[in-house]
Amino acid sequence: MKILVLNAGSSSQKSCLYELTELPDRPPQPLWEAHTDWSHQQGVAELQVKTIHGAEVKTDITSDSRRDVTEQMLKTLWSGATQVIQQPNQISIVGHRVVHGGETYQSSTRVTEAVKGAIADLIDLAPAHNPANLEGIQVIEELLGADVPQVAVFDTAFHSQMPRSAATYAVPYEWFERGIRRYGFHGISHQYCAQRAAQLLDQELSQLRLINCHLGNGCSLAAIRDGYSVDTTMGFTPLEGLMMGTRSGSVDPGILLYLLREGGYTADQLDEALNKASGLKGVSGVSGDMRQIMQAIDQGNDRAQLALDIFFHRLRSCVGSMLASLGGLDALIFTAGIGENSPEARLATVEAFEFLGWEINPEKNAERSKDDRDIATPESTVRVLVIHTQEDWAIAQECWRLAQSH
Ligand code: ADP
Repeated sequence: MKILVLNAGSSSQKSCLYELTELPDRPPQPLWEAHTDWSHQQGVAELQVKTIHGAEVKTDITSDSRRDVTEQMLKTLWSGATQVIQQPNQISIVGHRVVHGGETYQSSTRVTEAVKGAIADLIDLAPAHNPANLEGIQVIEELLGADVPQVAVFDTAFHSQMPRSAATYAVPYEWFERGIRRYGFHGISHQYCAQRAAQLLDQELSQLRLINCHLGNGCSLAAIRDGYSVDTTMGFTPLEGLMMGTRSGSVDPGILLYLLREGGYTADQLDEALNKASGLKGVSGVSGDMRQIMQAIDQGNDRAQLALDIFFHRLRSCVGSMLASLGGLDALIFTAGIGENSPEARLATVEAFEFLGWEINPEKNAERSKDDRDIATPESTVRVLVIHTQEDWAIAQECWRLAQSH
């Protein structure tokens, strides 16, 4: 079975093609992987493609249209130096990451007209992502035909069993009835890491209490018990919770009221400030990228140091809050760009809970390894795992499962 995965973001998209004859324990290498990014230059998308056979192509596509760019990206599957299939109809099924599934979708689902309608209805709640996800579905339908099954895998689904007390904001109840509640995001990554942790620890996921720290450009934590997310730091939108690259995370809502009334801000200006000009970037004035923050600190930049200190302070506070929701912990997991690559972030978190007996081995923490691993000392009261998140593989697995059940 050839499974195409499309992970469409607001300014970049990733895609890969897997070939499976059975569902392996560990992610296989995709036959073909592509990445497009149009954040560098208006009207130009950078396309990078590589294959399992070692072919690599880098090219610029001059177009503003996601449809054009996606079409050109997919054509590299069946033509040119990166060709891995003879024709498009060899693709058996296509899986999409869909950021917002609202209250309706609690698990992955085959795409139908109704599902497309629901994704469109949720655009107001995820304006940067759901339109891109929908467009991806439409382009595939046009290029491969309506008969190729497509699957929507929702980033909100893993959190859909959260207790009401964690999902409901302390605001007028009518707001909840209008759909204003905590949804949580990064669910595909949180679920994958939880399952991988169970595999690494050789235990049943249903028996484990886990906190997964997904620390990338966007950051969120999930408290996982009985195999489900029971609490998470992102909320109604991906703006809540931890400090992020350019997003503020949680702030006193009174600040927004003050700026609307007294600061001359419009709602759009607040949106821009909180989503794009806050977080590591806003505080440091340097960058939203953790590597550049660390470089600036090495050069003695005080605001970069403050940004890092806030990032760690928020991270530790939120781990504490997830811990309380679980009532105990078996393993703390670090994943995504910062989680997988920053020994400093892992140490800063674990150190704060030394009084509970959490402890990491400094050599294992400093190791630059791509392997999933346990970096806790044997004496530590919790396991501390570093797991390379594999969202695309998680989406492919969902496609396989849905295809088997039909
Ligand atoms: P996204 O959320 O866009 O998928 P990633 O998971 O790739 O992002 O994470 C990007 C973040 O990871 C950036 O802040 C980047 O600086 C950080 N990062 C990547 N490598 C390192 C590293 N070696 N040390 C510290 N931070 C890193």
